[in-house]
Amino acid sequence: MAKRRIVLLGPPGAGKGTQAKRLVETTGLTHLSTGDILRDEVAHGTDLGNQAKAYMDRGDLVPDQLIIDMIRGRIETADGFILDGFPRTVAQAEALEKITPLDVVINIDLSRDEVIRRLSARRVCRSCGRIYNLLSNPPQVAGKCDVCGGELYQRDDDRPEVIKNRYDVYMASTAPLIKFYQDRGILVSTDGRRPTDEVFAQITAVISA
Ligand code: AMP
Repeated sequence: MAKRRIVLLGPPGAGKGTQAKRLVETTGLTHLSTGDILRDEVAHGTDLGNQAKAYMDRGDLVPDQLIIDMIRGRIETADGFILDGFPRTVAQAEALEKITPLDVVINIDLSRDEVIRRLSARRVCRSCGRIYNLLSNPPQVAGKCDVCGGELYQRDDDRPEVIKNRYDVYMASTAPLIKFYQDRGILVSTDGRRPTDEVFAQITAVISA
């Protein structure tokens, strides 16, 4: 039976967002990215956005309770989901267990050097959110999205000073979730260095099994 309650785990730049967006097209599941939701809140100048912005700019985690309150309703109303960027701490994972059971957690593995290399070259479409990499997956026309022609931009937190902190924060706060989900017998790891298509094929096989 196809798995419908999926978490994508892995350091920033491992390809969680790219894989989630492709999986949405093939599975029809709801993509829930806490990073995307927060960026939207910041762009609209909401109370939550204003509270979250300073943490995000530094590459630190937004406090657990704000994140849990923000995501709970969306998880409860989704008919199957791909969680991308949540949970990021053990406290968040424990809160998630109380909201819903999970079918599988897919850990996309990537080294520190590769994280830094990839994030420095990442660009995102301002209109449709499609993700590019200037080294491995450049747009056909510099600065423009292949799909919608929108302007490509570099996220504020993809600048070198912030990237290193984001990796350290990942190692300290989020990497312990690998063992957390291993202990629950629902973790599958995949090598994020491989081409996007190969990682996608493996994830598709895992969630279809
Ligand atoms: P992302 O797009 O997933 O890399 O998230 C961008 C930033 O949003 C992170 O560096 C954090 O500041 C914040 N953020 C996203 N998801 C979470 C989360 N689950 N817990 C705490 N902070 C988060």
